[in-house]
Amino acid sequence: MVKCKYCKKEMKTAHGCDKFMFKYEDGAVYAPLKVTPEETYGTKRCGDCAAEIGGYHHIGCDQEKDPRTGNQALMSDAIDRVKNIKPVMKPMPKRKGIMDYF
Ligand SMILES: [Zn+2]
Ligand SMILES: [Zn+2]
Repeated sequence: MVKCKYCKKEMKTAHGCDKFMFKYEDGAVYAPLKVTPEETYGTKRCGDCAAEIGGYHHIGCDQEKDPRTGNQALMSDAIDRVKNIKPVMKPMPKRKGIMDYF
């Protein structure tokens, strides 16, 4: 019996985690991504957090992806995970790279 400390649900039986939005330093807020069939490797549940297809990964799952960058959520730029807030879609902050001429 393992309960997720964020949604307080039993991970093996819950459909998925609650909808904890990704909140970023610049004020952007993105909805979490749902479990896809590819992430379950042929089963109905995520191999790491046991959320079902169509449910949200439990926070801390190593298969969850950052909805803004596509990186692993554990490596996310998000500064917080917050429930019950509206999405604020902002583009990625500009980063210095070879495409920057200024
Ligand atoms: Zn959870
Ligand atoms: Zn998961």
